[in-house]
Order: sequence, then structure tokens, then C-alpha cells
Amino acid sequence: MKNIVVIGAGTMGNGIAHTFAQCNYNVQLIDVSEIALKRGMETIEKNLDRMVAKEKITLNEKTKTLSNITTFSNIKEGVKYASLVIEAATENVNLKTQIFKELDEICPDDTILATNTSSISITQIGAATKRADKVIGMHFMNPVPIMQLVEIIRGYNTSDEVTSFIVDLSLKIGKIPVKVNDYPGFVANRILMPMINESIETLYNGVAGVSEIDTVMKLGMAHPMGPLQLADFIGLDVCLSILNVMYEGFKNPKYAPCPLLVNMVVAGKLGIKSGEGFYDYSENKKAEIVSKIFS
Ligand code: NAD
Repeated sequence: MKNIVVIGAGTMGNGIAHTFAQCNYNVQLIDVSEIALKRGMETIEKNLDRMVAKEKITLNEKTKTLSNITTFSNIKEGVKYASLVIEAATENVNLKTQIFKELDEICPDDTILATNTSSISITQIGAATKRADKVIGMHFMNPVPIMQLVEIIRGYNTSDEVTSFIVDLSLKIGKIPVKVNDYPGFVANRILMPMINESIETLYNGVAGVSEIDTVMKLGMAHPMGPLQLADFIGLDVCLSILNVMYEGFKNPKYAPCPLLVNMVVAGKLGIKSGEGFYDYSENKKAEIVSKIFS
């Protein structure tokens, strides 16, 4: 397996491309937006520079990693020789099923199609293709080059062969795979999102302020980051869409998103990526937080 196609050059896509390229895979990074491709490559370069400065990699390794990545804005061009496609486009069920339908038509017959979705049903995405046995969830964590876990989600029809292949591949790129079954939120977000939602509800109810809530969880529970800061880091729009998928999937009010979260997303306060969420991210502050996470 040599050619890894990554669809989406945003937060997750550029991290996935970086990780595979650093392990010497040829990566075709595809995005509908030229601006996103440019920003994605700039992010990869910045993160590699940080690794060079910390002597985790050499300058040669940085150059080699960058040369392993080719960018495309045309999906047909990019997937011609794909062994594996990892889709990391925007979290939207219609968009993802449309992308998988197209991938099924244009990829070689033996290409494995993976999705980095945080919560959307792998079985539903697989059903948009004629190769549901080769459709699987590969849920990387943010920031991908740093975080070790990959949640491997088997759809209803995913084959044993494809599952063990993806488990082995995850080990080869230095990650720790954990296999889970396909239910809304899988394991990571089924547990994380209710905690984030409850922390927003706690703020909304006036029990405590942003920094008090985060301090209680950091110092009291030994969490490296408070839940509100983590929500900013993940993206409040991403948190909202995951909660909505779980709310609709389980038909259980315990997953209903807090009205404050809904309001903030509608108002365009999406966290780090928009410059403001529960915290203010002027350029300096943003740089400080991101470099702390990467240290
Ligand atoms: P993002 O908004 O940063 O990036 C999404 C990218 O997809 C954008 O650059 C957009 O231009 C591109 N895109 C949209 N439609 C496309 C298409 N048809 N073809 C190609 N590219 C397209 O989003 P993100 O945070 O990187 O999330 C991507 C996926 O990863 C989502 O499914 C999300 O749930 C999942 N995820 C996110 C996190 C996180 O912490 N942000 C963690 C794990 C998983």
C-alpha cells in the first residue's frame, strides 16, 4: 500500500496527510477549496518546523515529508491510483454519502474507503457504495501527528479482512488502534460530547464561569485541557453536529445540544478556527495555545 488519498485539507485532513507522508507514504491531498489546500500545506510545514526545532525530526525528514504530498482540487485526478482513501471532509451526512458514491464509481475496485467521521454511521456511508465490505471508520484524534489513538469503526458490512488490514496499517504509522462497533458517537464522542455539553450547560445555568469550569476539570480530574477549551479546539460547529447525530440516532434527550452551544455556532463563534469561542484567540493567543498542544 503506497498511495494514500486524503479528502479534505482542514484541521484533520492536513494532520492525516502529514502523518502518512512522514511515514513515507505517497499522499494525494484533495480539497474542493484551493485556499484550504494552501492553508493545509502551510500548517503541515509549520508543524514540521516545530518538530525540527525540537529535534524530533531532521531538516531532511521535513523536506522528504513535504515532497511526499501532492495536492489536487479535482477528485478524479487525485484518486486514480488510490490504495486507500481517507475522507476528512466537513461533518455532514449528505456531503459524505455523496463523496462516497463518487469515490465508489471512480476508484479502483480494490481501494479501501475510510472515513474520519466523528459520529456519522459507517453503515450508512457504506450503503452509498457497492463495496460496503471495504468501507470503514478511521477516527483520528486532533492533533493527528501527536495523538496516538485511532478508533477503528466496523460498519455492519465491513469485512474482517479490511478491519485487520486497517488495524495493521494504523500500527505501521505509529498509532494505537482500538476496534469499536458502529453506533452513534462510537466510543470517544459518546463519552466526551455529553461531558462537553454538560460543561456548556453549567456555564449557561450560571453555576460558574469559563475559567472556573475548566480549572475544576483540569486540577480536580487531571484533564490536560478543560472541556470548554477542548470544545474550542475541536470546533463548536463540529461538537454541535456530533451531538445532533447522537440525539437523532438514540432519540434520547440526554444528548440534546445546550441552547448556548447552538447560539454560539449560529453567531459564528466556532472556537480557535474562527478566532473566538469560549476563549478569545487573537493571533498571539492562538499561537501560544497551539504550540502548547504540540509541545
Ligand atoms: P474542517 O472544516 O477543518 O475541514 C474540512 C475540509 O473539507 C475543508 O477544507 C473543506 O473545504 C473540505 N471539503 C468540503 N467538502 C469537500 C469535498 N466535497 N471534497 C473535498 N474536500 C471538501 O473540518 P475538520 O475539523 O478537519 O473535520 C473533518 C472531519 O474530521 C469531520 O468528519 C469531523 O467530524 C472529523 N473529526 C474532526 C475532529 C476535530 O477535532 N476537528 C476530530 C476527529 C474527527
